[in-house]
Amino acid sequence: MRKAERCFKTLDIILDSRELDQDYRDKVFQGQKISSLLSRLARYDRGNSTSQEKNKQAIAYKMIEIGLQYFQDRYSQTKFLSSKIQELKSLLSDLQSISGELVEEDEALRLYRMRGKLKMPPKILPSRDEWQAMCDICWRSASGNDKMHAMKSIRHETNCTYDKKDLERCIRTFLPTG
Ligand SMILES: [Zn+2]
Repeated sequence: MRKAERCFKTLDIILDSRELDQDYRDKVFQGQKISSLLSRLARYDRGNSTSQEKNKQAIAYKMIEIGLQYFQDRYSQTKFLSSKIQELKSLLSDLQSISGELVEEDEALRLYRMRGKLKMPPKILPSRDEWQAMCDICWRSASGNDKMHAMKSIRHETNCTYDKKDLERCIRTFLPTG
């Protein structure tokens, strides 16, 4: 990670340098090398979840945007091109909103699986002498001698995002009836 960070810094220095000319820059950033790098950075993997593909899609999006901007600046006089570029830009923004919806679906599916495919939280039956607690996120429950003990006895699902520092925020408790 540190080495990659250093490489990025070096490339930044070359790109920002006023002493190095375009020829030198073109030698460092050869089209073929850059395109091989970019194509590996944004290769779709069917096995990934929508959120795991997020960074790749952001890169793919940016590449198109940068490319369109380049052609728009360079051939700004050509009206036909301008209107086509506008069309592509609106297509891109549609794609972005579709993937935003998919991420939300992904998240809902993740919660559904974590909650053991239950559609409603489990019914907690009152106990005579024990406190009970249920996590509002993963819906796991436990009982204990007192409120804190019950809350701490919950065995949360692996990916549960409950607040460990503020248990009462995500865990509801039920006092004993006796
Ligand atoms: Zn939980």
